[in-house]
Amino acid sequence: MPDAVLSIAGLSKTYGTGFQALRHVDLEIRRGEIFALLGPNGAGKTTLISIVCGIVNASAGRVMVDGHDNVTDYRAARSLVGLVPQELTTDAFETVWNTVSFSRGLFGKPPNPAHIEKVLRDLSLWDKRDNALRTLSGGMKRRVLIAKALSHEPRLLFLDEPTAGVDVTLRQDMWQLVRRLREGGVTIVLTTHYIDEAEEMADRIGVIRGGEIILVEDKAELMRKLGKKEMTLQLAQPLEALPPALAGLPLALGAGGLELTYTYDAKAEHSGITELLQALEAGGVAFKDLKTRQSSLEEIFVSLVREQEQA
Ligand code: ATP
Repeated sequence: MPDAVLSIAGLSKTYGTGFQALRHVDLEIRRGEIFALLGPNGAGKTTLISIVCGIVNASAGRVMVDGHDNVTDYRAARSLVGLVPQELTTDAFETVWNTVSFSRGLFGKPPNPAHIEKVLRDLSLWDKRDNALRTLSGGMKRRVLIAKALSHEPRLLFLDEPTAGVDVTLRQDMWQLVRRLREGGVTIVLTTHYIDEAEEMADRIGVIRGGEIILVEDKAELMRKLGKKEMTLQLAQPLEALPPALAGLPLALGAGGLELTYTYDAKAEHSGITELLQALEAGGVAFKDLKTRQSSLEEIFVSLVREQEQA
């Protein structure tokens, strides 16, 4: 990929317990995109992010952040990455200003009050800069986490389940904020359990399950495939060709003329099946059986959701 801001190759992780949390993951993140990593509990999302951010060591493989190897060129790689974790772990008695300024220092960057001010203003936290963290609402605390992650001017920002346990309004605010950050030139990788969040936010979607990336796709393409459904008719008599009455419909003839497959958009209000059945009758085509099938991607998502429900 010509302009990858993050390149992950052959990444595996086996924890001390012997549990293999990642299996040979290859992934490239494009500069300027919003990438959603979707997967059920325990799929390996946090492990993957933690390795990129240098919090967890990989067992095998390589991570390059904008050309810097995150092991041999650790400082440079780490300073380009910001991480917004799920929980605030900072001292609750510290002020917003001090917390965010201190974070910048951790990356060896010289103080830059003008940048910290900009970050706090962008996140509507400027008025709260002298407040202790414990006095903030849940939504404000989440924004402090983002401010901390942006304090050292990263190019790549990871958001670990940014809207988990968040109410609907706050969720919308968070989505808007993420879009603004991207407009400001930051590449975003977010992890989520929610298909609708990935659908709403992402340019591309990756699905991780059991430590393996099972799919990476442009959102638009994925949604197109997800929306597709197939209906197959077993015909009573083989057809050599589609009769004129069926011309113009999304139909394919298969199995030696004994199967007719109709593809339609499962999300559309109107499937067109009634018209199809009428056209079949008008064309004198009889069928003895009918079955519908979801696209394989939808099957992936359905099984993902099932695993989630069982977790
Ligand atoms: P969630 O959506 O629940 O946050 P996740 O996709 O982020 O899940 P990870 O936190 O990466 O998943 O965990 C992946 C697997 O690795 C899980 O089975 C987890 O129990 C295991 N795991 C994570 N950290 C450790 C550890 N320090 N030692 C042993 N096993 C671990």
